[in-house]
Amino acid sequence: MIKIGTYFAYWAQEWKVDYFPYIEKAKKAGFDVLEISSGILDLRDDELTALKNAAKDAGLTLTACLGVTRDMDVSSADEVTRRKGIDYLKRLFIAMDKADIRKLGGIIYAYWPCDYSQPVDKPAVRARSIKSVQELADDAAQYGIELEMEVVNRFEHFLLNDAKEAVQYVKDVGRPNVKVMLDCFHMNIEEDNMGDAIRYTGEYLGHFHIGETNRKVPGKGRMPWDEMAQALRDINYQGYVVMEPFVKMGGGVGSDIKVWRDLSDNADEAQLDADIAESVKFLRTKFY
Ligand code: MN
Repeated sequence: MIKIGTYFAYWAQEWKVDYFPYIEKAKKAGFDVLEISSGILDLRDDELTALKNAAKDAGLTLTACLGVTRDMDVSSADEVTRRKGIDYLKRLFIAMDKADIRKLGGIIYAYWPCDYSQPVDKPAVRARSIKSVQELADDAAQYGIELEMEVVNRFEHFLLNDAKEAVQYVKDVGRPNVKVMLDCFHMNIEEDNMGDAIRYTGEYLGHFHIGETNRKVPGKGRMPWDEMAQALRDINYQGYVVMEPFVKMGGGVGSDIKVWRDLSDNADEAQLDADIAESVKFLRTKFY
């Protein structure tokens, strides 16, 4: 049975926020999984334990996802920056362990959003990234944490743009706790065929992000839901399917995601909650 989740930022305009309210919201909407971000680094040990217990009481599994900022880029040519990124992610693993979070995905193999005013040296970035991710994977393994390398479209980063590049990258990293994360929002731009990309990734698929082409909640657009769900069944995918809707402007989230108009039909908080609950129902008819 595939577990369905959502990223907290559907309701939030900043990456680092108090995640406790979203546990209640995710539970009410009918989710199995709540994905959060780096804000857990600001929590004390007792707060991390409280977060763990609140999720457990709500019957939710917590996962984490983020794009590392440029000053902590583990693919950087600057060794100080690279080390800073590795130290940052290792501190995150400690906090994740205390909150019982066992999956970390996103652009953790480089930085995000990519600054394309700078020249791109893909082979050099790839080599440094692999070296760093190997070190990170060995550290994460002691907590039973799996790292998910998110494949994103060319406008957001250049290293892993399609399933083929990501599978080769993960093979070259060569650690059992490093997997590929596909996201249909990005696949829609870069892949020839959604189902084939999923089947190509196969056993290397560790996490799956979903959303409509404009990042509205699933069910409001034209994503090939049946095709993707069938491909996940074809590879006997046992992981999570986590939606990542971004519909409101404003804050660091709106700016990084480039939400320049209200995509929620000016929904208030109650309508946002109703929309996402409806989306969960829709997905249960597709992903099983
Ligand atoms: Mn994503």
